[in-house]
Amino acid sequence: MSLETATRTQVTLDRMWAIEKTKPEPGLWRVQAPLPAGGPADIRIRVTAFAICGTDLHIVNWDRWAASRIKPPLVFGHEFTGIVDWVGNEVKSVKPGDRVTGETHVYCGLCYACRRGLQHLCEKVEILGVDRQGAFADFVVLPEKNVWKLHPDIPEEIAAVHDPLGNAVHTALAGPVAGLRFAVFGCGPIGCFAVGVLKASGASWVAAVDKNPLRLELAERMGADLVLNVERDAIVQRILEKTQGRGVDGMLEMSGHPDAFRAGFEALANGGRVSLLGIPSKPLEIDVAKEVIFRGALVQGINGRLIFDTWYRMEALLLSGKLDVSPVITHVLGWSDFEEAVSLQRSGKAGKIVLRRDHP
Ligand SMILES: [Zn+2]
Ligand SMILES: [Zn+2]
Repeated sequence: MSLETATRTQVTLDRMWAIEKTKPEPGLWRVQAPLPAGGPADIRIRVTAFAICGTDLHIVNWDRWAASRIKPPLVFGHEFTGIVDWVGNEVKSVKPGDRVTGETHVYCGLCYACRRGLQHLCEKVEILGVDRQGAFADFVVLPEKNVWKLHPDIPEEIAAVHDPLGNAVHTALAGPVAGLRFAVFGCGPIGCFAVGVLKASGASWVAAVDKNPLRLELAERMGADLVLNVERDAIVQRILEKTQGRGVDGMLEMSGHPDAFRAGFEALANGGRVSLLGIPSKPLEIDVAKEVIFRGALVQGINGRLIFDTWYRMEALLLSGKLDVSPVITHVLGWSDFEEAVSLQRSGKAGKIVLRRDHP
């Protein structure tokens, strides 16, 4: 779409198409929502592609987490890309027509965490599509400080998944990688991305663990040296066999499953790193003396993406040609295929699903 058309759209419309959680119950609603308004430091983006994430399924299903966090009516969705349509009068770094995506953790910049350079841990964080109006819509508004201008060589589908890819980059690169051996537990899109990031960053060997054969196949296509199916393989034993009994130097936990925690610690070399991104549904018990203290393990929680360190590394990895995440994007659908995308995602027969505005 030309810029002219975008400007006309802005002038003539005060409503837009959106997917909304309208009522506090399971389901989703297609609505005509008000066009989001921006302040002087905001930009408005005409969304051209978006992707569905596990978080969105929680919101559609209206589970306990969603019921406690989401305040309907809310346009949800946070994985997106688009073209700048309007900028507030204080905005300097982007202009209408720029291709962008954005850091979806809208941070305050003034709290204790933010002022220490830990914006991803902002105490007043507002997450796009969770705490503020999201991106499953014609337009979305973000502050200029959250906007990420895209390099022209980054394809549309990849631009739409920068948020989860950033989670993978953050997790994988949260400690030394080069020459080391890793196990990734949980091969959803973020786990599969993480396999690729580890390999592109010089990991010498990566095992991928899941129970879904399609996901394991994707992990293999992303460069996993060994794929292990929890329903068939003795996970710890196979990892120890392949690492001369030493175990892996790093364990990336992307599943939140208690068995993965247990196996991950058992398969960890002394002095290894445990990076936790998957969210367990309830408190977990581990033998801290054995698994953490005597093992000398470094255990770290990973939240979001480093703002913007992760983003620069992600871009550099993508542009280097060493990281190709396209195998993980298993489906590209049309703008209105949202219900189909949700059921595909639920079925476990998909990696990442991207919906494009200009899909034929
Ligand atoms: Zn997401
Ligand atoms: Zn803050």
